[in-house]
Amino acid sequence: MKFSELELPATILKTLDNIGYDEMTPIQEATYPVISAGHDVCGLAETGTGKTAACAIPLIQMVDTKLNAIQGLIVVPTRELCLQYVAEIQKIAVKTGVVPFAVYGGFSKQIQAAKIRHEVHILVATPGRLIDLVYDGIVTLSEVKCMILDEADELLNVGFLSDIEFIFSCLVHEHQTMLFSATMPDDIKKLTQTYLRDPQHISLITKQAAPKSIEHYFKYTHPNAKQEDLVDYFKTEKIRQAIIFCNARHQVDRLFGSLKKQVKDLEFIHGGLAQEKRTSIIRRFRQQKIHALIATDVAGRGLDFTHVSHIINWDFPRELLQYTHRTGRTGRMGRRGLALTYIAKHDLSNLRKLLQTRKLTAHWLGKDGLNPEKGGESGKAQARAKTGKKRLSRRRRPRRRQSASKAPASGA
Ligand code: ADP
Ligand code: MG
Repeated sequence: MKFSELELPATILKTLDNIGYDEMTPIQEATYPVISAGHDVCGLAETGTGKTAACAIPLIQMVDTKLNAIQGLIVVPTRELCLQYVAEIQKIAVKTGVVPFAVYGGFSKQIQAAKIRHEVHILVATPGRLIDLVYDGIVTLSEVKCMILDEADELLNVGFLSDIEFIFSCLVHEHQTMLFSATMPDDIKKLTQTYLRDPQHISLITKQAAPKSIEHYFKYTHPNAKQEDLVDYFKTEKIRQAIIFCNARHQVDRLFGSLKKQVKDLEFIHGGLAQEKRTSIIRRFRQQKIHALIATDVAGRGLDFTHVSHIINWDFPRELLQYTHRTGRTGRMGRRGLALTYIAKHDLSNLRKLLQTRKLTAHWLGKDGLNPEKGGESGKAQARAKTGKKRLSRRRRPRRRQSASKAPASGA
C-alpha cells in the first residue's frame, strides 16, 4: 500500500514523497490504522523494517501545533538512538510545524531546558535524563497523548524497569501507549499487560527473528588465532563497512589497540567515551569516514546504518536476542548483509540454542569447518549444534582457556 492512499495531511505526504517513502513497509501498513484508531499497540517487526516511521507518522498527525506542550513522548535506551529517532521525526515533520526534540545524558541540561521551555511537541528521551528533567520541573507530561517505548523489551528489562515504572507513574491521565521492538521475550511480554490497556498485538515476526537479507557465518577459531584471522578477513573479504562487536568495554579498547595499525580507518565506541566523541564517531561512521567500528552493545540496538555490509561478533553475545539486534545493523530495508561470529568451545551450547531458536541457516568458514564428514572441529561443532550433543574432543582443547567473552561485564 502507498502512503498516498492514506488520509495524510498534504504537509506530511509531500515530505514522504520528497524523502522517497512511497510504499509503506509491512509494519507501517499494519500499525497505521490501529494507532490512528487510538489503540494501545505492541508492535514487533524485524530489524530495519521502518518501525520508527510506523510510530512517527501517526504521532506527528496527532499533535496540535496550537498547543505549546509535550504531546508525544518517546523513550529509547541509548543516546545515539535518541538522536537518530528525533532526526527521523524531524525529517518527516519538516513542513508541519511540529517541533520534536531529543534529551539525553552527557549533554547540557540548561540548553535542553531552554528549548523545552520555548516549544517542544514531541520529546524523544533516554530514561535517566527524562527523569532528571521531570524532577527539576522542566518537563511536564500532563499533555502527553501518546507514549512510545522503542526497543521496548530492553526498556522493560531489569536495568531500566524502575525508571520506566516511574515514567509511567507520571502519566496518570488517559493516553495511548505503544511498544515497539524486533524481539519480545515471553517474560517481558507478560509484563507489558501491566502497562498497556487492551492492546493490539501486531507481530510480523514469524519463525525467524533475523531478516532473510542477512547471511549468517560462523567460524570456530582458537582464541590465540582470532586476531590474525580477523586481519586476514579484512584483507580478503569485500567489506563496505563493518561493526565488530565485543562483550565488554575493556575488550573493545584492547582489540582497537591491537588492530588499529592493521585495519584502515578503524574506530571504537562504548559507553565509557564522552558523549561528544560518541556522537562524532557515529556521525563519521554514517559518512563512511570510518571503515570499521569496534563496539559494545551500545551500538547493538536500533541504529540505522545504510552502508554496513558486515557484522562481526568478536565475542559471542551474552544474550541470544542480542545476536538479532547486533546482526540487524546490516541487511536493513532489504539490502544484503553478512554476519560473521567467532565461536570458542565455551560458546557451543549457546550456539546450539541460537541455531535452534532462531532457525538460522548457518554457513561455516575455515577449512576444518567446510566438511563435517572430514571431522573438522567446526564441522563437529556444527553437527553437535544440530544434534544437541555436548561432548567436545579433548584433543584440540586450546592450551590457554582465557578468552574475551570470559571477561567480566563492565557495561556497554
Ligand atoms: P527499524 O526501527 O524497524 O529497525 P528504521 O525505522 O530504523 O527500522 O528504518 C530503517 C530504514 O528504512 C531507515 O533508513 C528509514 O529511513 C527507512 N524507511 C522507513 N520507512 C520507509 C519507507 N516506507 N520507504 C522507504 N524507506 C523507509
Ligand atoms: Mg528501530
